[in-house]
Amino acid sequence: MILPHKHQAAETTIFTVMSALAAEHKAINLSQGFPDFPIEEQLIELVTKAMKEGANQYAPMTGLPALRQAIRQDFRHRYGLAIDADTEITITPGATYAIDLAFNTVLEPGDEVIVLEPAYDSYIPNIQMCGAHAVRVPLLTESFLPDWGKIQAAITQKTKAIIVNTPHNPSGAVWTSDDWNTLATLLAPHDIFVLSDEVYEQLVYDGKRHASVLDNPLLRERAFALFSFGKVFHCTGWKTGYCIAPPKLSAAFRKLHQFVAFSVNTPVQAGLAAYLQLPTRAPAAMLLQQKRDLFIDLMKASPFTIKAATSGSYFQLASYAGLSSLSDKAFAQWLTKEYQVATIPVSAFYAEGTDHKLLRFCFAKKDETLRAAVAQLAKLH
Ligand code: PMP
Ligand code: GLN
Repeated sequence: MILPHKHQAAETTIFTVMSALAAEHKAINLSQGFPDFPIEEQLIELVTKAMKEGANQYAPMTGLPALRQAIRQDFRHRYGLAIDADTEITITPGATYAIDLAFNTVLEPGDEVIVLEPAYDSYIPNIQMCGAHAVRVPLLTESFLPDWGKIQAAITQKTKAIIVNTPHNPSGAVWTSDDWNTLATLLAPHDIFVLSDEVYEQLVYDGKRHASVLDNPLLRERAFALFSFGKVFHCTGWKTGYCIAPPKLSAAFRKLHQFVAFSVNTPVQAGLAAYLQLPTRAPAAMLLQQKRDLFIDLMKASPFTIKAATSGSYFQLASYAGLSSLSDKAFAQWLTKEYQVATIPVSAFYAEGTDHKLLRFCFAKKDETLRAAVAQLAKLH
């Protein structure tokens, strides 16, 4: 019997490969993006309470009303945005799922999607699983910001969507509202949907402000904005996220969602709803910015080169170009085995494995983990 090839990407994602290698070699794992510090006790208590109080059966298909309302309030409070909880917000089992489902909602076989590289590794397989084609456009080399000329040149009659990721994984680059305005001008003559992966929206540093696609009136009417609670509340294992899209797009998204997942873990939704309504929550960006600064400072003792401090996300890029001529994948494996520090080779974010001799370090770790990791890296010469 023949199994179809649903996508042309790696057999096993780099995150699984590197986390497994880290476990095998008892290495400090700065590869896959997840925190090693505990999540807020209050959040655990609220989910436990929900479970004890009987929130253990199916949630409504679109998500618990209390959670959708809490998200609405949260967006009004933090961004001054008006979002309708009933018609525009759908709770999903994580953002990966929401991105895939948004692609499924808009794509037909033969369509093209513009993907800005380096790109998070699920996008292109998701597009291929819809029978569509990814048209890869490189981001600018140093800044990882959009190259508008190249994006414009990539638009064809077949372009159905573009996927944007801000704050960007792996570079941490963040879009400004000017970037969104430029995209809006560029897309105005075309029927092209926008998927905006904003999972790191609350992790923006140095006083910068996250600019959401939802804040651009021209783009908002054609956009699916995708979010994850995993990243902002440090509970990546809960796999809970949401999609915000205008009513017509949300209705089309839900038409699929009802037959793919139907609904999402009820006690987690109830706990998150209560947590979002607390008057004070620990600000994630402040904690993570301190960790970024500590990591960069510690790295001065290592032979790696950090070109620019990351502006957002969990990740910092560093170059090992002066250290080795190995490919980034070979170097990351060698580093894990010989120095017990696991990282992500950035070539994994390029369909053709473009190698700039960069590694991605996740700094969402306890200070002691960062210190121990860099103490190992400092032994390298
Ligand atoms: N998009 C990006 C850019 C990510 O880094 C991740 C990893 N968290 C996701 C989407 C997936 O989020 P989730 O774990 O909620 O599926
Ligand atoms: N988003 C995480 C990262 O970039 C990984 C999630 C996953 O393992 N799929 O490290």
